Amino acid sequence: MKKTSQKKQPAIQYTIVPKDLAGHLFNVTLTVAAPDPEGQVFALPAWIPGSYMIREFARNIVRIRAEAGGVAVALTKLDKHSWRAAPSAGPLSVHYEVYAWDLSVRAAHLDQTHGFFNGTSVFLRAVGQEETPHVADIQRPADPAARTWRVATAMRELGAKRYGFGTYVAANYDELIDHPVEMGDFELATFKAHGIPHDIVITGRVPNLDMARLQADLKAICETQIAFFEPKSKKAPMERYVFMTMAVGDGYGGLEHRASTALICARADLPSTATPKSAEPNEGYLRFLGLCSHEYFHTWNVKRIKPAVFAPYDLQVENYTPLLWLFEGFTSYYDDLMLVRSGIIGEATYFKLLAKTIGGVLRGSGRTKQSVAESSFDAWSKYYRQDENSANAIISYYTKGSLIALAFDLTIRAKTNGAKSLDDVMLALWERYGRDFYPSVGRGVTEAEVEALFDEASGLKLKSMFERYVRGLEDLPLAKLYAPLGVKLVDERKNGKPSLDAGIGRDPLGAKLTQVHEGGPAHQAGLSALDVVIAIDGLRVSGNPPNVDALLSRYRVGDKVTVHAFRRDELMSFELTLQGDRVPGISLAQAVAGKKSAAAIKRPSAV
Ligand SMILES: [Zn+2]
Repeated sequence: MKKTSQKKQPAIQYTIVPKDLAGHLFNVTLTVAAPDPEGQVFALPAWIPGSYMIREFARNIVRIRAEAGGVAVALTKLDKHSWRAAPSAGPLSVHYEVYAWDLSVRAAHLDQTHGFFNGTSVFLRAVGQEETPHVADIQRPADPAARTWRVATAMRELGAKRYGFGTYVAANYDELIDHPVEMGDFELATFKAHGIPHDIVITGRVPNLDMARLQADLKAICETQIAFFEPKSKKAPMERYVFMTMAVGDGYGGLEHRASTALICARADLPSTATPKSAEPNEGYLRFLGLCSHEYFHTWNVKRIKPAVFAPYDLQVENYTPLLWLFEGFTSYYDDLMLVRSGIIGEATYFKLLAKTIGGVLRGSGRTKQSVAESSFDAWSKYYRQDENSANAIISYYTKGSLIALAFDLTIRAKTNGAKSLDDVMLALWERYGRDFYPSVGRGVTEAEVEALFDEASGLKLKSMFERYVRGLEDLPLAKLYAPLGVKLVDERKNGKPSLDAGIGRDPLGAKLTQVHEGGPAHQAGLSALDVVIAIDGLRVSGNPPNVDALLSRYRVGDKVTVHAFRRDELMSFELTLQGDRVPGISLAQAVAGKKSAAAIKRPSAV
């Protein structure tokens, strides 16, 4: 019997069931109300926006079949992530199983403790029907372990209650895959930032979690950022926001979305009610807040202000852009700055973080070979696929990109006598390209438009900075730029201790060289990355971590030592002349009394 009040079948409807918790399997059904009469094509993305690497998520589809009206429909595989269904009349359903056992922010994970998925891992795209509303029915697992589970996502509820299982809706496929979903017995707290509800969701065992402190600190960070981009209206670009966090023994990472972020962190980095309250966060908690600040800044910078090639994304192939230094580097610059501006840390801690970044950038010789524009473009095959030679071959568009932001900021402030700053450039980018990007995918920004806008917003001619630091290989003149503000930048590397100038890793036989820096003593002596050093001057290398520094501490720079090492299973001997450690020991300090340096941190003209 047909009910008269039967609901209309949505154009695109998914049902996702965490079916086998122990076997890590999601069962998914996608029903397309009006399939392509020529044969509907389905595809799973090859990558997830924000993480620039081909991951071929379709390799986790274990079984797949199609049917229409209870009759099997043939599926032809077209390539590693696409299928075509034979033409059929009426609604077409595809049933498939997805293996979910990747505990990262990029994919999907399911067991008895929780479930997590990104749409890019579980939702096949009905090719040609991306722009219609997509409905997802997220069902509670039958497993008794999941009886008390709740759901956290920034996706809009349709039939579901907030935090409940049931139906959710996205305006189109692009939005559907931009709302990751967490389910489980998570800790949950909500705060408002400039009127917008923000959820903190913590999955994983965290004894004595200090949620109150987390709430207060995140509120300060979020309000500072909302007011940064919309100083007058203080209007956030989303209706609500979710920080979904997986706490583990050891881990770190985050992925940005338009109204949420998926984070993974060490539980030790989360604040505890059992430890005495410190005014400033400790190192681990600061790392976590820095991560939250970073992903939250992306809500504006890369989720709405985007490179032209990301608008829209092509999810089947690499999307090349030379602009990640702007979207990741500038986000890295502002993530720490927002911690100071929101009062979470003081200037001294900020300068310590900055000094570490400067030292890290100066460390590798890769910076003399690859520009940040090239590093951005090649992210897919180089930055995201690093190996033992990366320090000698590539530069990070995150860290050097953040120093480029600093250099632009200091230059604009100096040349406009403090009237303008990099903030004006970010606001101009936001107003022109970001604010109206959604609901449908708007227009991204090209390289030429970025450069023109820097000049326009600052009133300066900044072309040479792009030439030298973005497309070129020059180190940033930070000591010179900071000097007028009374901030002294010192490189203490001249006091270096004797060193192999190589990365030292653990190995049962001694110490494995994880990387060998070009031009350093290990390189000059003939040692290679992955060699296992077993003795220095006849004394055994051992311990965990290996005692290389302790052995070398009895020598002077210029002394010669004999190094024994295994390359594969062959014992080799090397004569090595020790050099001073070339790790840049950068320190930043206020050389001049007073608060002049604050001028480089605060917004110049409070609006
Ligand atoms: Zn980022």
